[in-house]
Amino acid sequence: MLLRKGDPDRICVHHSAVSPGADNIFDLKKRLAQYEITHSKKSWAEETKTGGEYGYSYLAYHIAVAKDGHEMITQNDKYILYHAGDNARGKDSFNLHGIAVLLDGNYETEIPTPYQKEALARIIARFERQYKVNVIVRGHKQTSLTATACPGVNIGTHENGFLKEAIARANEIIKNGETDEPLNAPSAPIDDETEELRKKVEELSRNMGMLEGQNAELAKRLSEKEAIITQIQMDSQKWQKEAKSANDNLGKVLEEKGELEKTIASLERKISKLTEELAEMEKEKNANWQLYKKALEGQIDKQTSIQLIEILFNRFYTKIKSLLKKEQSGGEK
Ligand SMILES: [Zn+2]
Repeated sequence: MLLRKGDPDRICVHHSAVSPGADNIFDLKKRLAQYEITHSKKSWAEETKTGGEYGYSYLAYHIAVAKDGHEMITQNDKYILYHAGDNARGKDSFNLHGIAVLLDGNYETEIPTPYQKEALARIIARFERQYKVNVIVRGHKQTSLTATACPGVNIGTHENGFLKEAIARANEIIKNGETDEPLNAPSAPIDDETEELRKKVEELSRNMGMLEGQNAELAKRLSEKEAIITQIQMDSQKWQKEAKSANDNLGKVLEEKGELEKTIASLERKISKLTEELAEMEKEKNANWQLYKKALEGQIDKQTSIQLIEILFNRFYTKIKSLLKKEQSGGEK
């Protein structure tokens, strides 16, 4: 709760940017219940929470005006509200020393009504009479340190358009001693049925806020589930890649196996060729043995026979040796 030091001396005019604007006091109350919820979720909400004398604890406007010119006081002037975006400007601050007037509607696109102009003029005139000051009136975008369209191009500034005309009308009211009573005054007491409806609207607005909260919670949970699904999909892709790589390796191993089988077949062919050659040599050895036997039968002396055996054996040995050498070097010439 932020209490103002001294009297306010300026007014900042806002629009709600909600189109179309509330046509009458009943619509305006519905809208204000929604803005109350919106403002209650702002970062500055708890710090600026007011005593709520007029039913709104967080709403950052002091007065709200419907399109038919009916106005509602929503916060006591004694509270500082964050509405003008100018916290740093000391004695010229519209937050610290100004009150916030809301013209409900979006005046970037809508045209404000003559009733709203008269209502705003009366608010300005009343303010001057009450606080005995020459009030400074500006549109929100004229006071804000950050860019904003508020209160809309069709409200203008204190130097042009609707706002300039409302200020001129306020000066006329003061000068002519005209009434500054609210357009809806004398305010008729709200009948029971309307009060009942007001309560229902407030309750519905509260429920809506709760549902919005639950919705946000569900959306959060949904996004968590989505993150898990994404992770699973990524894992699955990784596993597929690994499976493909394993499959490629299997192909390579199978290829190598094929190569080995070919080599084995080639070795087997060489072995069988060697076996054939050995058989040839066996035949030759037998032939030589026959020759040796014939030599014995031909009465060759023993000494000569031994020499013949040695010769034959050496021939046989040399042949085997040369065959083995040929096989070891692996080449056929
Ligand atoms: Zn504004």
